[in-house]
Amino acid sequence: MSEVVALGELLIDFTPAGKSEKGNQLFETNPGGAPANVLAAVARLGGKTGFIGKVGADQFGHFLQEVLQGLGIDTSGLLVTNEAQTTLAFVHLTADGDRSFSFYRDPGADVLLCADELRAEWFGHTRFFHFSSNSLTAEPARSATHKAIQLAKAQKALISFDPNIRLPLWKEPHRIKEQIEACLPHVDFLKVSREELEFVTGCSDLSEGTLWLHDKFGIRVIFVTLGVEGCYFRVGEQTGMQAGYTVKTVDTTGAGDAFCGAVLYRLLQISDPAACEVEQLAEIVDFANAAGALSTAKMGAIPAMPTFAQIEQLRKT
Ligand code: ADP
Repeated sequence: MSEVVALGELLIDFTPAGKSEKGNQLFETNPGGAPANVLAAVARLGGKTGFIGKVGADQFGHFLQEVLQGLGIDTSGLLVTNEAQTTLAFVHLTADGDRSFSFYRDPGADVLLCADELRAEWFGHTRFFHFSSNSLTAEPARSATHKAIQLAKAQKALISFDPNIRLPLWKEPHRIKEQIEACLPHVDFLKVSREELEFVTGCSDLSEGTLWLHDKFGIRVIFVTLGVEGCYFRVGEQTGMQAGYTVKTVDTTGAGDAFCGAVLYRLLQISDPAACEVEQLAEIVDFANAAGALSTAKMGAIPAMPTFAQIEQLRKT
Protein backbone atom coordinates (compact mmCIF):
# COMPACT_ATOMS: atom_id res chain seq x y z
CA MET A 1 0.00 0.00 0.00
CA SER A 2 1.29 3.43 -0.92
CA GLU A 3 2.42 5.88 1.77
CA VAL A 4 2.69 8.68 -0.78
CA VAL A 5 0.16 8.96 -3.59
CA ALA A 6 0.44 11.57 -6.35
CA LEU A 7 -1.94 12.47 -9.15
CA GLY A 8 -1.63 14.34 -12.41
CA GLU A 9 0.74 15.14 -15.21
CA LEU A 10 2.64 12.23 -16.75
CA LEU A 11 4.49 12.69 -20.00
CA ILE A 12 7.67 12.13 -21.96
CA ASP A 13 10.32 14.87 -22.06
CA PHE A 14 12.42 15.18 -25.22
CA THR A 15 15.67 16.89 -24.21
CA PRO A 16 18.62 17.90 -26.47
CA ALA A 17 21.54 15.60 -25.70
CA GLY A 18 24.64 16.60 -27.66
CA LYS A 19 25.62 15.77 -31.23
CA SER A 20 26.19 12.47 -33.02
CA GLU A 21 29.54 11.67 -34.70
CA LYS A 22 28.01 12.98 -37.95
CA GLY A 23 27.13 16.25 -36.19
CA ASN A 24 23.37 15.62 -35.95
CA GLN A 25 21.53 16.84 -32.87
CA LEU A 26 20.55 13.95 -30.60
CA PHE A 27 17.64 13.90 -28.17
CA GLU A 28 17.08 11.97 -24.99
CA THR A 29 13.61 10.81 -24.01
CA ASN A 30 12.84 10.83 -20.32
CA PRO A 31 9.65 10.22 -18.38
CA GLY A 32 8.41 13.40 -16.72
CA GLY A 33 5.54 15.36 -15.19
CA ALA A 34 5.91 17.00 -11.79
CA PRO A 35 3.84 14.59 -9.62
CA ALA A 36 5.53 11.55 -11.23
CA ASN A 37 8.93 13.15 -10.64
CA VAL A 38 8.09 13.68 -6.96
CA LEU A 39 7.13 10.02 -6.59
CA ALA A 40 10.31 8.96 -8.36
CA ALA A 41 12.26 10.98 -5.78
CA VAL A 42 10.38 9.36 -2.87
CA ALA A 43 10.74 5.88 -4.42
CA ARG A 44 14.50 6.36 -5.03
CA LEU A 45 14.82 7.08 -1.30
CA GLY A 46 12.86 3.95 -0.38
CA GLY A 47 9.29 5.21 0.20
CA LYS A 48 6.22 3.28 -0.96
CA THR A 49 4.44 5.26 -3.66
CA GLY A 50 1.43 5.08 -5.97
CA PHE A 51 0.59 7.13 -9.07
CA ILE A 52 -2.86 8.14 -10.29
CA GLY A 53 -3.20 9.41 -13.84
CA LYS A 54 -3.85 8.56 -17.45
CA VAL A 55 -1.76 7.69 -20.50
CA GLY A 56 -2.70 6.89 -24.08
CA ALA A 57 -2.90 3.33 -25.40
CA ASP A 58 0.32 3.93 -27.35
CA GLN A 59 4.03 3.08 -27.09
CA PHE A 60 4.74 6.20 -25.04
CA GLY A 61 2.07 5.32 -22.49
CA HIS A 62 3.36 1.78 -22.27
CA PHE A 63 6.91 3.09 -21.77
CA LEU A 64 5.77 5.39 -18.94
CA GLN A 65 3.92 2.56 -17.21
CA GLU A 66 7.06 0.40 -17.38
CA VAL A 67 9.30 3.18 -16.10
CA LEU A 68 7.09 3.86 -13.08
CA GLN A 69 6.86 0.15 -12.31
CA GLY A 70 10.62 -0.16 -12.71
CA LEU A 71 11.03 2.48 -10.01
CA GLY A 72 8.77 0.49 -7.71
CA ILE A 73 5.83 2.93 -8.05
CA ASP A 74 2.40 1.25 -7.82
CA THR A 75 0.56 1.90 -11.09
CA SER A 76 -2.86 0.44 -10.15
CA GLY A 77 -4.17 4.02 -10.47
CA LEU A 78 -2.56 4.63 -13.88
CA LEU A 79 -5.37 4.28 -16.43
CA VAL A 80 -4.84 3.65 -20.14
CA THR A 81 -7.21 5.34 -22.59
CA ASN A 82 -8.03 5.24 -26.30
CA GLU A 83 -9.55 8.76 -26.12
CA ALA A 84 -6.23 10.58 -26.50
CA GLN A 85 -2.49 10.11 -26.90
CA THR A 86 0.18 10.26 -24.24
CA THR A 87 1.42 13.82 -23.64
CA LEU A 88 4.87 14.72 -25.02
CA ALA A 89 6.98 17.67 -23.80
CA PHE A 90 9.95 19.26 -25.59
CA VAL A 91 12.57 20.75 -23.28
CA HIS A 92 14.61 23.73 -24.49
CA LEU A 93 17.86 24.08 -22.54
CA THR A 94 19.76 27.34 -22.13
CA ALA A 95 23.54 27.50 -21.67
CA ASP A 96 23.21 27.96 -17.87
CA GLY A 97 21.10 24.81 -17.44
CA ASP A 98 17.66 26.52 -17.31
CA ARG A 99 14.81 25.19 -19.40
CA SER A 100 11.54 26.06 -21.12
CA PHE A 101 8.93 23.68 -22.57
CA SER A 102 6.64 23.25 -25.52
CA PHE A 103 4.03 20.48 -25.64
CA TYR A 104 2.28 18.06 -27.87
CA ARG A 105 -1.02 17.95 -26.01
CA ASP A 106 -4.42 18.42 -27.62
CA PRO A 107 -5.48 17.48 -24.96
CA GLY A 108 -3.03 14.84 -23.77
CA ALA A 109 -4.32 11.74 -22.01
CA ASP A 110 -3.04 12.91 -18.60
CA VAL A 111 -5.61 15.74 -18.32
CA LEU A 112 -8.52 13.44 -19.20
CA LEU A 113 -8.65 11.68 -15.84
CA CYS A 114 -12.26 11.73 -14.53
CA ALA A 115 -13.51 11.97 -10.93
CA ASP A 116 -15.74 8.89 -11.32
CA GLU A 117 -12.71 6.80 -12.34
CA LEU A 118 -11.03 7.25 -8.95
CA ARG A 119 -11.18 4.36 -6.51
CA ALA A 120 -11.10 4.80 -2.73
CA GLU A 121 -8.80 1.77 -2.34
CA TRP A 122 -5.95 3.66 -4.08
CA PHE A 123 -5.78 5.78 -0.90
CA GLY A 124 -5.85 2.79 1.48
CA HIS A 125 -2.83 3.54 3.70
CA THR A 126 -1.86 6.88 2.26
CA ARG A 127 -0.09 9.34 4.57
CA PHE A 128 0.55 12.04 1.96
CA PHE A 129 -1.34 13.00 -1.17
CA HIS A 130 0.62 15.24 -3.55
CA PHE A 131 -0.56 17.17 -6.60
CA SER A 132 0.29 20.21 -8.72
CA SER A 133 -1.62 22.72 -10.84
CA ASN A 134 -1.47 21.06 -14.22
CA SER A 135 -4.42 18.85 -13.34
CA LEU A 136 -6.35 21.96 -12.23
CA THR A 137 -6.11 23.71 -15.59
CA ALA A 138 -9.03 21.94 -17.30
CA GLU A 139 -11.90 19.53 -16.81
CA PRO A 140 -12.25 16.63 -16.27
CA ALA A 141 -8.87 16.48 -14.46
CA ARG A 142 -9.78 19.44 -12.19
CA SER A 143 -12.78 17.63 -10.68
CA ALA A 144 -10.73 14.44 -10.43
CA THR A 145 -8.08 16.33 -8.43
CA HIS A 146 -10.67 17.72 -6.01
CA LYS A 147 -12.23 14.30 -5.55
CA ALA A 148 -8.78 12.78 -4.90
CA ILE A 149 -8.13 15.41 -2.20
CA GLN A 150 -11.38 14.39 -0.51
CA LEU A 151 -10.64 10.65 -0.79
CA ALA A 152 -7.15 11.20 0.65
CA LYS A 153 -8.46 13.34 3.51
CA ALA A 154 -11.07 10.69 4.32
CA GLN A 155 -8.08 8.39 5.01
CA LYS A 156 -6.49 11.11 7.20
CA ALA A 157 -3.72 11.66 4.66
CA LEU A 158 -1.95 15.03 4.69
CA ILE A 159 -2.14 17.12 1.53
CA SER A 160 1.00 18.35 -0.24
CA PHE A 161 0.77 20.86 -3.09
CA ASP A 162 3.33 22.34 -5.48
CA PRO A 163 1.53 24.76 -7.84
CA ASN A 164 4.29 24.43 -10.47
CA ILE A 165 2.85 27.38 -12.39
CA ARG A 166 3.70 27.58 -16.10
CA LEU A 167 1.34 30.30 -17.27
CA PRO A 168 2.37 30.48 -20.95
CA LEU A 169 1.35 26.84 -21.42
CA TRP A 170 -2.16 27.10 -20.05
CA LYS A 171 -5.31 27.86 -21.96
CA GLU A 172 -6.91 30.03 -19.24
CA PRO A 173 -3.97 31.54 -17.30
CA HIS A 174 -6.23 34.20 -15.70
CA ARG A 175 -8.30 31.44 -14.08
CA ILE A 176 -5.45 29.44 -12.58
CA LYS A 177 -5.16 31.72 -9.54
CA GLU A 178 -8.74 30.97 -8.52
CA GLN A 179 -8.19 27.26 -9.19
CA ILE A 180 -5.16 27.28 -6.91
CA GLU A 181 -7.00 29.26 -4.22
CA ALA A 182 -9.85 26.73 -4.29
CA CYS A 183 -7.37 24.01 -3.23
CA LEU A 184 -5.33 25.94 -0.67
CA PRO A 185 -7.73 25.51 2.30
CA HIS A 186 -7.07 21.73 2.09
CA VAL A 187 -3.28 21.99 1.90
CA ASP A 188 -1.02 20.99 4.83
CA PHE A 189 2.38 21.32 3.07
CA LEU A 190 2.83 23.91 0.34
CA LYS A 191 5.93 24.33 -1.83
CA VAL A 192 6.22 27.46 -3.96
CA SER A 193 8.95 29.32 -5.83
CA ARG A 194 9.49 33.05 -5.12
CA GLU A 195 7.59 33.89 -8.34
CA GLU A 196 4.68 31.63 -7.38
CA LEU A 197 4.49 33.21 -3.93
CA GLU A 198 4.22 36.63 -5.54
CA PHE A 199 1.68 35.40 -8.12
CA VAL A 200 -0.60 33.85 -5.51
CA THR A 201 -0.24 36.46 -2.72
CA GLY A 202 0.63 39.61 -4.66
CA CYS A 203 3.49 40.05 -2.19
CA SER A 204 7.23 39.57 -2.88
CA ASP A 205 8.30 39.65 0.78
CA LEU A 206 8.86 36.04 1.90
CA SER A 207 7.73 36.54 5.49
CA GLU A 208 4.66 38.63 4.63
CA GLY A 209 3.62 36.42 1.68
CA THR A 210 3.87 33.15 3.62
CA LEU A 211 2.13 34.68 6.65
CA TRP A 212 -0.75 35.77 4.40
CA LEU A 213 -1.08 32.18 3.09
CA HIS A 214 -0.93 30.83 6.63
CA ASP A 215 -3.55 33.27 7.93
CA LYS A 216 -5.91 33.16 4.97
CA PHE A 217 -5.86 29.41 4.20
CA GLY A 218 -4.62 27.89 7.45
CA ILE A 219 -1.54 26.32 5.77
CA ARG A 220 0.87 25.46 8.58
CA VAL A 221 4.01 24.52 6.61
CA ILE A 222 5.14 26.52 3.57
CA PHE A 223 8.43 26.11 1.65
CA VAL A 224 9.64 28.85 -0.69
CA THR A 225 12.40 27.27 -2.78
CA LEU A 226 14.97 29.75 -4.02
CA GLY A 227 17.03 27.78 -6.55
CA VAL A 228 20.75 27.74 -5.73
CA GLU A 229 20.12 29.96 -2.67
CA GLY A 230 18.22 27.18 -0.90
CA CYS A 231 14.86 27.48 0.85
CA TYR A 232 12.92 29.81 3.12
CA PHE A 233 10.21 28.12 5.17
CA ARG A 234 7.40 28.85 7.58
CA VAL A 235 5.90 26.60 10.27
CA GLY A 236 2.95 28.40 11.83
CA GLU A 237 4.27 31.65 13.33
CA GLN A 238 7.93 30.62 12.98
CA THR A 239 10.20 30.92 9.95
CA GLY A 240 13.62 29.65 8.89
CA MET A 241 16.12 29.76 6.05
CA GLN A 242 18.45 26.96 4.93
CA ALA A 243 21.20 27.77 2.44
CA GLY A 244 21.50 25.60 -0.68
CA TYR A 245 24.40 23.35 -1.73
CA THR A 246 26.82 24.12 -4.53
CA VAL A 247 27.17 21.43 -7.18
CA LYS A 248 28.11 21.37 -10.87
CA THR A 249 24.66 22.09 -12.32
CA VAL A 250 23.92 20.75 -15.81
CA ASP A 251 20.09 20.65 -15.90
CA THR A 252 17.70 22.10 -13.31
CA THR A 253 14.69 20.07 -14.59
CA GLY A 254 12.98 18.46 -11.61
CA ALA A 255 14.95 20.22 -8.84
CA GLY A 256 11.74 21.36 -7.15
CA ASP A 257 10.31 17.83 -7.49
CA ALA A 258 13.45 16.29 -5.97
CA PHE A 259 13.04 18.80 -3.12
CA CYS A 260 9.35 17.88 -2.59
CA GLY A 261 10.04 14.15 -2.76
CA ALA A 262 12.85 14.43 -0.23
CA VAL A 263 10.64 16.43 2.16
CA LEU A 264 7.81 13.89 1.89
CA TYR A 265 10.19 10.96 2.40
CA ARG A 266 11.57 12.54 5.58
CA LEU A 267 8.09 13.45 6.85
CA LEU A 268 7.13 9.77 6.49
CA GLN A 269 9.70 8.97 9.20
CA ILE A 270 7.87 11.23 11.72
CA SER A 271 4.88 9.90 13.65
CA ASP A 272 2.97 13.22 13.57
CA PRO A 273 4.21 15.26 10.58
CA ALA A 274 1.36 17.77 10.89
CA ALA A 275 2.82 18.89 14.23
CA CYS A 276 6.52 19.02 13.22
CA GLU A 277 8.51 21.84 14.82
CA VAL A 278 10.77 24.43 13.23
CA GLU A 279 14.09 22.72 14.24
CA GLN A 280 12.91 19.39 12.85
CA LEU A 281 11.81 21.09 9.66
CA ALA A 282 15.11 22.96 9.27
CA GLU A 283 16.92 19.62 9.22
CA ILE A 284 14.43 18.19 6.71
CA VAL A 285 14.81 21.27 4.48
CA ASP A 286 18.60 20.87 4.58
CA PHE A 287 18.18 17.25 3.43
CA ALA A 288 15.79 18.40 0.67
CA ASN A 289 18.17 21.18 -0.44
CA ALA A 290 20.89 18.56 -0.92
CA ALA A 291 18.43 16.38 -2.89
CA GLY A 292 17.44 19.35 -5.08
CA ALA A 293 21.07 20.28 -5.71
CA LEU A 294 22.09 16.73 -6.64
CA SER A 295 19.19 16.47 -9.09
CA THR A 296 20.66 19.43 -11.03
CA ALA A 297 24.02 17.70 -11.45
CA LYS A 298 22.55 15.12 -13.88
CA MET A 299 20.44 15.44 -17.04
CA GLY A 300 16.69 14.85 -16.87
CA ALA A 301 14.37 14.67 -13.88
CA ILE A 302 13.59 11.06 -12.89
CA PRO A 303 17.04 9.69 -13.84
CA ALA A 304 18.63 12.46 -11.75
CA MET A 305 16.82 11.75 -8.47
CA PRO A 306 19.47 11.04 -5.80
CA THR A 307 19.75 8.17 -3.35
CA PHE A 308 19.77 8.57 0.44
CA ALA A 309 23.52 7.82 0.54
CA GLN A 310 24.29 10.47 -2.12
CA ILE A 311 22.30 13.08 -0.19
CA GLU A 312 24.00 12.27 3.13
CA GLN A 313 27.40 12.36 1.45
CA LEU A 314 26.78 15.86 0.04
CA ARG A 315 25.56 17.06 3.45
CA LYS A 316 28.82 15.92 5.06
CA THR A 317 31.03 17.88 2.63
P1 ADP B 1 11.70 24.66 -8.92
O1 ADP B 1 12.44 23.61 -9.71
O2 ADP B 1 10.38 24.20 -8.41
O3 ADP B 1 11.68 26.01 -9.57
P2 ADP B 1 13.99 25.45 -7.34
O4 ADP B 1 14.67 25.80 -8.62
O5 ADP B 1 13.92 26.50 -6.30
O6 ADP B 1 12.54 24.85 -7.57
O7 ADP B 1 14.76 24.19 -6.77
C1 ADP B 1 14.34 23.47 -5.63
C2 ADP B 1 15.52 23.26 -4.70
O8 ADP B 1 16.57 22.56 -5.41
C3 ADP B 1 16.15 24.56 -4.21
O9 ADP B 1 15.50 24.99 -3.02
C4 ADP B 1 17.58 24.13 -3.96
O10 ADP B 1 17.71 23.48 -2.72
C5 ADP B 1 17.83 23.11 -5.07
N1 ADP B 1 18.42 23.72 -6.28
C6 ADP B 1 17.78 24.18 -7.38
N2 ADP B 1 18.65 24.67 -8.29
C7 ADP B 1 19.87 24.52 -7.77
C8 ADP B 1 21.20 24.82 -8.21
N3 ADP B 1 21.43 25.38 -9.40
N4 ADP B 1 22.24 24.52 -7.39
C9 ADP B 1 22.03 23.97 -6.16
N5 ADP B 1 20.81 23.65 -5.69
C10 ADP B 1 19.73 23.92 -6.48
